[in-house]
Amino acid sequence: IFITMEGPEGAGKTTILEMLYEHYIEKGIKIVKTREPGGIRISEKIREIILNPDHTEMDGRTEALLYAAARRQHLVEKVIPALEEGAVVLSDRFIDSSLAYQGYARGIGIEEIWKINEFAIGEVMPDLTLYFDLDPEAGLARINKSNNREINRLDLEQLDFHQRVQEGYYKVIDKFPERLHKIEASQGVEDVFEQSLRAIDAILNR
Ligand code: C5P
Ligand code: MG
Repeated sequence: IFITMEGPEGAGKTTILEMLYEHYIEKGIKIVKTREPGGIRISEKIREIILNPDHTEMDGRTEALLYAAARRQHLVEKVIPALEEGAVVLSDRFIDSSLAYQGYARGIGIEEIWKINEFAIGEVMPDLTLYFDLDPEAGLARINKSNNREINRLDLEQLDFHQRVQEGYYKVIDKFPERLHKIEASQGVEDVFEQSLRAIDAILNR
């Protein structure tokens, strides 16, 4: 069973993923946790290239192809073998991040990004995707709180981008309404955790 977690920065994906992982380990369920871009050596290196703030000349399509390349290697090397061994795989981000960020927010087009990702991942799609929905203002406030700083001008420009990321995720929900399960991420951690558990248990007990 392949489960992915999606949403903007500050939505709590990583925190909830850790809680879910611990929960299922305690229940004796075979589970593997991972993240994108990254999860294995080559893809972590690609992550460093993509996220390096010095790489300001990075072309949008180059970026999209690098995400797809990192995804391919991660899938072949880690996700598919784990699924074949019968494990539950929990991934912090997957294809929907590319559709929402590169496809919609950066304006390349959801269908264009879908095409290159189809090439990269073939038939392997998540069984369930938890989408943590959070208004951009709340997301930025959380990020700033954890970095211990005030909102500044740069943030206001970022607000616009995060608005588009949220709209992008809404388009992705329209494209895959069965797979995506939306959870209100402004709730407390315990509530988000409970709702995540319920959604995953429904798939595991299917
Ligand atoms: O998931 P995490 O917060 O570690 O993501 C790292 C960064 O990569 C974030 O700033 C996120 O916005 C960005 N990202 C992106 N496009 C993707 C995946 C992640 O811009 N497809
Ligand atoms: Mg995170």
